[in-house]
Amino acid sequence: MSYKDPIIHIDEQLCTGCRRCAAVCPVDAIIGEPGHPQTIDAHRCVVCGQCVQICTAYAADNESTTASRAVKLQERGQLPNVREPLFAAYSSGDIQKVKAVLADPKRFKVVQCAPAIRVSLAEEFGLPFGTLTPGKMAAALRRLKFDRIYDTNFAADVTIMEEGSELIGRVMSGERLPMFTSCCPAWVKHAETAAPELLEHLSSCKSPMQMGGALFKTYGAELDGIAPSDIFSVAVMPCTCKKFECSREEMSVDGCREVDLVITTRELASLIKDQGIDFIHLPDEPFDSPLGKYSGAGSIFGVTGGVMEAAIRTGYELITHEQIPNLQLDFVRGEEGIRTAEVQIGDLELKVAVVAGLKYVDAVLAKVAEGTCPYHFIEVMACPEGCVSGGGQPKLLLETQRKIAYQARKSAVYRHDSHQKVRKSHENPDIIKLYKDFLGEPLGHTSHHLLHTKFVDRSLKEEMS
Ligand code: SF4
Ligand code: SF4
Repeated sequence: MSYKDPIIHIDEQLCTGCRRCAAVCPVDAIIGEPGHPQTIDAHRCVVCGQCVQICTAYAADNESTTASRAVKLQERGQLPNVREPLFAAYSSGDIQKVKAVLADPKRFKVVQCAPAIRVSLAEEFGLPFGTLTPGKMAAALRRLKFDRIYDTNFAADVTIMEEGSELIGRVMSGERLPMFTSCCPAWVKHAETAAPELLEHLSSCKSPMQMGGALFKTYGAELDGIAPSDIFSVAVMPCTCKKFECSREEMSVDGCREVDLVITTRELASLIKDQGIDFIHLPDEPFDSPLGKYSGAGSIFGVTGGVMEAAIRTGYELITHEQIPNLQLDFVRGEEGIRTAEVQIGDLELKVAVVAGLKYVDAVLAKVAEGTCPYHFIEVMACPEGCVSGGGQPKLLLETQRKIAYQARKSAVYRHDSHQKVRKSHENPDIIKLYKDFLGEPLGHTSHHLLHTKFVDRSLKEEMS
């Protein structure tokens, strides 16, 4: 599968030309005159889906003729029984394809869920903002007939092992600093398009989703005694750009796609409703082991500052060989904008920055380009408050509602972390076992082959992939 076509669209029959989408677009990719239908510059667009979140122009399910609504649902890749309005700005759907794969008994179906899904999925079933439902989510995925319920949070713990080791290496050598995180595909696409000369500053780590996909079809395949080519790997993400990321040419391992399809939180909710599953009354069920067991550090990847906090928890202990005095690092927590801090780790004064919202990153990139950027490590998330505010999350129509929801989802992420027995990636017993039995060591040969990548200069390309 490849996304040569744009993933984000504006339906010219429904667009009123209000340009609310243009106001939230971090890269000025929305083109048009007020009062007229808008178009998207696919080359600039980073597929973050913020325009999809903010657009309020819609056709209600009883507004158009049944025939045209059915056609639009089909074009959008949605299921025919979806009741919600059709909004002007939308993302391509993959739910029909996932439904077909789930009905195929010959495939071995694995699924992973990003950290931010478990704090927002319940909203689609009428529960309050930020209701935390990891157990019901695992149960629903099992009822949908996935063979293994794995977790992106596990892969987030792997990311910390790899990215943390990479950062320590770069700080010790003084090379290619500052180092930027590479978990957010919209940020990566922006760097590739707008600042290709700075790509060596990105961590070489694949995102947790892609690391998870690579491990499911190698380590997971070995554990289950299944050929990697028989595994179909689905990811449930809060992010529309993950659909683009999984289709990138380099995101394959030994000829197999790491992640075959990505669906959003809203698409998963739609599939659960389509199958008549009573989500609210499902029991809490566990994720499958070992690729579904995670630490609190893995779960905070869903919020701005989370990758940084998880990396510092592990980096501190790997460098000093002492326990970090406090696990709750308030100085990296916060909202949209830029936060900076200096962290004393043994003899090292680590200078860090957290960028929440892609529109804030260009000033940082300019400093890196002129050699005056003072930081060692910079986390960038394209969406305003990290993945909890992603373009694939449940849609929020009012600005006030949006703020309350983001706050509630963030609190739920931190609550989930605080309730985990293990809260540091390097102490996750299944991570320790993964390195002992399969990967060897962080940044070792197998890790490089499966978990690291090279980024692409997209400054001149006109197509999406
Ligand atoms: S896509 Fe939606 S938000 Fe953007 S101009 Fe059209 S109606 Fe307004
Ligand atoms: S998906 Fe993001 S980058 Fe693309 S047009 Fe919409 S807001 Fe802009």
